[in-house]
Amino acid sequence: MSTDTPFDELARTHGTPLYVYDMDRLDAARHDLVSWLPDGCEVFYALKANPHPELVRALRGPDGRGCRAEISSTGELAAALEAGHAPEDVLYTGPGKTPGELCEAIGLGVRLFSAESLTDLEHIGAAARDQGTVADCLLRINSATASAASGVRMTGKPTQFGIDSETIEDLAPRLLAVPGTTIAGLHLFSQSNAADEAALIGEFLHTIELAAHIERQLGVPLRLLDIGGGFSVPYGQHGERAAYPGLRAELETALDAHFPRWREGAPRLAVESGRYLVGDCGTLLASVSNVKVSRGRTFVVLDAGINTFGGMSGIGRILPVSVRPAPDERDTQRASLAGPLCTPGDILGREIELPAGLAPGDLVAIPNTGAYGPTASLLMFLGRPAPGEAVVRGAEVLSVSRIEHVRTYRKVAEPSG
Ligand SMILES: *Cc1c(COP(=O)(O)O)cnc(C)c1O
Repeated sequence: MSTDTPFDELARTHGTPLYVYDMDRLDAARHDLVSWLPDGCEVFYALKANPHPELVRALRGPDGRGCRAEISSTGELAAALEAGHAPEDVLYTGPGKTPGELCEAIGLGVRLFSAESLTDLEHIGAAARDQGTVADCLLRINSATASAASGVRMTGKPTQFGIDSETIEDLAPRLLAVPGTTIAGLHLFSQSNAADEAALIGEFLHTIELAAHIERQLGVPLRLLDIGGGFSVPYGQHGERAAYPGLRAELETALDAHFPRWREGAPRLAVESGRYLVGDCGTLLASVSNVKVSRGRTFVVLDAGINTFGGMSGIGRILPVSVRPAPDERDTQRASLAGPLCTPGDILGREIELPAGLAPGDLVAIPNTGAYGPTASLLMFLGRPAPGEAVVRGAEVLSVSRIEHVRTYRKVAEPSG
């Protein structure tokens, strides 16, 4: 490439594949998200999107008053604590919380859980009682109906997540009586990456109405209402984070109608986001290893594939990526973008527009890769090292790190004889 950029310099110094996370962009994303929300609305950052402790720390904010942490494992809990979160900032979610995990989390001081079923609630309660405490629980609700925004009311799908909303009325007495727990509120997370602002708002309004209905069925006041997320950002493709200029007023109107005391914090409102907060701060730098033509088709082979970016490819979430320079910035060619792994599945884009003239040694940059990068990838497949991760603020490099995998052996009995 002709002009040297900060990316070239970073790639030369630290090697590729290399994720670069720009903290200025991270701050901007958090700032924007908060600006679209009603005053006082809490934001839970879903560590699933990227558990890098420096990103989690930055999202928590210098005064600790930024995002809280939404976690789903003891590994994510460790990352949240390492990033400076107090255990009481943390919401522990997930459909398969084991007694061992619950015991560890409660032992470390976590007191807020999302309960995905009566059994899950009982497990949380048992772990809390074992340690002489009581856990605040949000009942996760699987809505029987989808948003009416499209004018279509659909039946909710069966899933492992949440308690079917139509069963709450019958279950209420048992849910409210689980020793070691108090029902602190509701958790509804019905969509990721909403198509547009109307879809996001429609889902939230539906959720608020349903939450008010469930509050009446339960007969206890909600303290915390987590209405989920769906905030959207491109994934491995060019483009901008979505904007939600109409969201705040719509939420306020719906809350005024259904929860007249919400402005006094009864209940407190919360949303969740992973990708929106971290997606556009990340750029994946990769090097071209080879360019080859097979039966008339061109393959650009990178040193980064589904082991680096694309654990989600198996469920059809990411392809195709796009690379810088953007296709409209200079001549393009149609080619497939392959990774280095010995599997035909290691394709980041099939027959996509790529910059023309790519040659071995060239650097490519895949934008919007701050979410669902390394930890959502097939990191160990084929034994390549994990990608580097550089945290920068403008031109300043704050840290460079890499995840290491280590096999540890347990002691087993000596073979006899
Ligand atoms: C995955 C997940 C999130 C984050 O989703 P994004 O689309 O990255 O914002 C938030 N909450 C829950 C419960 C999730 O499972």
